[in-house]
Amino acid sequence: MQNKKNLLGYSLESLKDFFTDIGEQSYRAKQVLKWIHQKGVLDFSEMTDLNKDLRNKLNNHAFIKPPQIEEEFISNEGTKKYLLKLDSGSMIEMVIIPEGKRRTLCISSQAGCALACTFCATGAQGFDQNLNSSEIIGQLWLANFNKKNNKLITNVVFMGMGEPLLNFDAVIESAKIMKDQLGYGLSRKRITISTAGIVPNIKKLNNYVDVSLAISLHASNDVLRDEIVPINKKYPIEKLLNACQDYLGKENKRKHVTIEYILIKNVNDSLEDAKGLVKLLSKLPCKINLIPFNSFNGSNYERPCNKTINDFKSFLINKGFIATLRTTRGDGVDAACGQLVGNLTKSIKGKKLISHKTI
Ligand code: SAH
Repeated sequence: MQNKKNLLGYSLESLKDFFTDIGEQSYRAKQVLKWIHQKGVLDFSEMTDLNKDLRNKLNNHAFIKPPQIEEEFISNEGTKKYLLKLDSGSMIEMVIIPEGKRRTLCISSQAGCALACTFCATGAQGFDQNLNSSEIIGQLWLANFNKKNNKLITNVVFMGMGEPLLNFDAVIESAKIMKDQLGYGLSRKRITISTAGIVPNIKKLNNYVDVSLAISLHASNDVLRDEIVPINKKYPIEKLLNACQDYLGKENKRKHVTIEYILIKNVNDSLEDAKGLVKLLSKLPCKINLIPFNSFNGSNYERPCNKTINDFKSFLINKGFIATLRTTRGDGVDAACGQLVGNLTKSIKGKKLISHKTI
């Protein structure tokens, strides 16, 4: 029983190996991948193009199981936050953000986080565990299939709990399923891995899967970044930006990286900071995404006023950068950037939210 494999997190390659290992033809992998990720089927007995013997055999060797939905929170603007329970009992969160025709899913790669960025609620919680590939892709599966008539997810961002590049293998395996035409068929542009800057793994990423890259920069000098993003002491800004340039490839095979910059009042929001950013990023093809700090219980940081935010943005635009402001969606359900803590009691404090058990 305990040797049974959860096939939900198996990419096509891994599924082929699985079928070979159990003495079956590897083309079966394609059929099973489609059943799981395109038709949303979790039960081998419903996979009608597999013969009965094979279905029985699969039941003996494997199962297909996403994390369990514990709670669903819906904000007035349509953002949905889900609290999910892993097999270990740990909780994680995922968020669905509808924007026009887009439905973006923000997923977690770890329960908790070890990086302790000073402005992040997940960081304040500490590290709990890595998610396996079934628990990562299981979030996308749930977002698409947990209810009939769910609108399909169009974009996935690894911007929930955890540092994706510190859970490399499971993140890559799940990204392969997201990209596979027999899986979710999402193009490179629709999958974004966001990292605080694990330089060796940015370099490694290039050899494994082609996705978009976002860097949580948040400071324009090492002194400040050492303080607010402590992993910077190990991988300072220059090394990080060189790794980004390498990721874009020699002829800029990929067009740009996204630079994320949280604006925190009186910490990194001055004109000097904006000038520093312009200087740093002058040679890197990038888009800058400004994120006004989202507050959470226990943090002393504040969001700058709108004028400071707009001045910062205008400065960058006037210097020729593409700079956008991330609007705060999901605030009402504590689902905005950096607010994910996987803690039920903390999450139910808001009055605006509607909460109901789904399964
Ligand atoms: N560890 C990864 C992914 C998780 S964080 C990373 O660092 O990129 C996803 C995004 O949310 C990052 O840009 C992160 O810096 C940002 N974020 C974290 N806390 C925030 C807060 N309190 N307000 C606004 N954005 C925050």
